[in-house]
Amino acid sequence: MSQHTLTIVPEGLIPDLLTRDASFTAVEKVFAAMAAGEAYNFPVVREAIGHEDALYGFKGGFDRTGGVLGLKAGGYWPNNLDKQGIINHQSTVCLFDPDTGRVTAMVGGNYLTALRTAAASSVSIKHLARKDAKVLGMIGAGHQATFQLRAALETHAFEKVIGWNLHPEMLPNLAKVAEEAGLPFEAVDLPGMRDADVIITITSSFAPTLMADHVSPGTHIACMGTDTKGKQEVEAALLARATVFCDEVAQSISIGEAQHAIASGLIKEQDVTQLGAVINGAHKGRASDEEITLFDGTGVGLQDLAVSAAIVEVAVANGTATVVPL
Ligand code: NAD
Repeated sequence: MSQHTLTIVPEGLIPDLLTRDASFTAVEKVFAAMAAGEAYNFPVVREAIGHEDALYGFKGGFDRTGGVLGLKAGGYWPNNLDKQGIINHQSTVCLFDPDTGRVTAMVGGNYLTALRTAAASSVSIKHLARKDAKVLGMIGAGHQATFQLRAALETHAFEKVIGWNLHPEMLPNLAKVAEEAGLPFEAVDLPGMRDADVIITITSSFAPTLMADHVSPGTHIACMGTDTKGKQEVEAALLARATVFCDEVAQSISIGEAQHAIASGLIKEQDVTQLGAVINGAHKGRASDEEITLFDGTGVGLQDLAVSAAIVEVAVANGTATVVPL
């Protein structure tokens, strides 16, 4: 009988183990596997547990091509920062051996969530934005926005960043990242987004801020903030104007940005294509320089698992993981 071990990679080690490049590659591969029917996500569980106002849940899946099975467990504890001095979002990934069901790894899930979310919009930019895109527009300037911006600037050679945020005092978060990359940053009003070739929305908004007429022909938009029923960042009419792509159709139409355009009858489920189909070559992607493309990134469990598997591989190879015999 083979010796069974559990590999533990704690949260604190992960920034040194997971590069943006590795996240990008893992997410691109797993999106392709999903579109090929080789990987699938399990239904998401999300529960208000009636304790500390917490929302707790599981996102899981199985990628047959990568041999990755597991789940991310965690959620949102709104009192953490005030009461415990730790961040409100808390999660942990568990991986299992798909041949036996035995647990193989536990990986801190907080930092990897930010990187895998940023990787998703970057993968969409690589496959859907115009190759001559120059101006990147950011809507949102919170925690995730800085990760999104860094990853986008590494994916495509933008020349300028423009930004809008409901709370303008947060815009220096974006300016700092742009300046680190050697690019100018300009704060704009929402109609000013017409100058953008690519727009990333990453807010916790429950009402649309980016309207259809704030977007110029040929723009690619990555909507990353809407991951729950009721949230909304862009006007539903924008989805009717755009060719719509997503990470996973089931999530896009129920908890993603597409939920509103579907509910109001502006688009149908068949109008939403998985980005993986473009990566695979099954869908041609952008059809013209005038087309507006929109990626609805809701965040799937398989992204977490793919990135966790990459982290475990590096941590085992360089000896930083704790390996416990079971
Ligand atoms: P954050 O609290 O750090 O920042 C929130 C951002 O939303 C800020 O820019 C804030 O100014 C803006 N905002 C708040 N209320 C708003 C409103 N009513 N209208 C417009 N803007 C508003 O949060 P974060 O960690 O940056 O997360 C942003 C969003 O991304 C959240 O909704 C989160 O659930 C979502 N998210 C999505 C994924 C995914 O995979 N798609 C992953 C992680 C987080």
